[in-house]
Amino acid sequence: MRALDAILAVVWAPRCAACDDPLDAPTRGAVCGACWHRLPAIAAPVCDRCGVAVAAGDTRADSRCTNCRRTGGPPTARRAAGVHAGTLRAIVHAFKYDGRRSLARPLAQRMQDAGGDWLHDADVAVPVPLHAYRRWRRGFNQAADLAAHLGVPVVHALRRTRHTGRQVELSRAARLEALGGAFALARRSGRRPAGAAVRGRSVLLVDDVITTGATVEACAAVLRSAGARQVRALSAALAVAAQSQPPSPRQRRPAPVRRRCAPSPARRPDGGSSPEPA
Ligand SMILES: [Zn+2]
Ligand SMILES: [Zn+2]
Repeated sequence: MRALDAILAVVWAPRCAACDDPLDAPTRGAVCGACWHRLPAIAAPVCDRCGVAVAAGDTRADSRCTNCRRTGGPPTARRAAGVHAGTLRAIVHAFKYDGRRSLARPLAQRMQDAGGDWLHDADVAVPVPLHAYRRWRRGFNQAADLAAHLGVPVVHALRRTRHTGRQVELSRAARLEALGGAFALARRSGRRPAGAAVRGRSVLLVDDVITTGATVEACAAVLRSAGARQVRALSAALAVAAQSQPPSPRQRRPAPVRRRCAPSPARRPDGGSSPEPA
């Protein structure tokens, strides 16, 4: 492969989808090794409700963060491969908006690491669905691509009943309201009714990014009312408080010329932490 990499690096000169540096080994994927190494992982111990790192020195046995101890935490427990910031955010954007679908496998590997025992407990993985229009525009559902590489049987048990539009500036309460009734049980999953595929099962709900969690809770509510025994959410990235986010590698250099002009929130001046549509 080394000779082929050397030839490709000169002739084709591909660049890393996250940092835009020239790729030394193009046959190993669209993102350079240095970027995979500097992912902003969520430091253990992780809160077993909301998935954020529990503060250093907080060693109480229930492994919940201060916030979840106070509030009880979200109804659906969450885990993620990393914080939606910096390099991971750039990788997720390249995957989702630039159509770099080959990134699904390495992202899903990191989700498997983060999911740990959840992967063994799960009977089925259910990707968060896109509305048919957005699915058609994008050409793929990023959550379904990730779910396909988790080693858990995938059931397309949900559908999006309406196009909810962009929710960039919406608060969590406004998102919850906007998403009310936006998800429903799919009529069928393969050859069986979708309800039968999740009834009594432990379900791993899969998405690319968990921002406020409104989408997760809307989907989980549908799965629970269909009889799912347990619902837990696993994502590639988890949005956390903006002040703890490192800058994206792309924010430190001039914006490269992209193949497509899809919105890339990594280059927005406001640098918001929840900028993407589904
Ligand atoms: Zn890179
Ligand atoms: Zn928590």
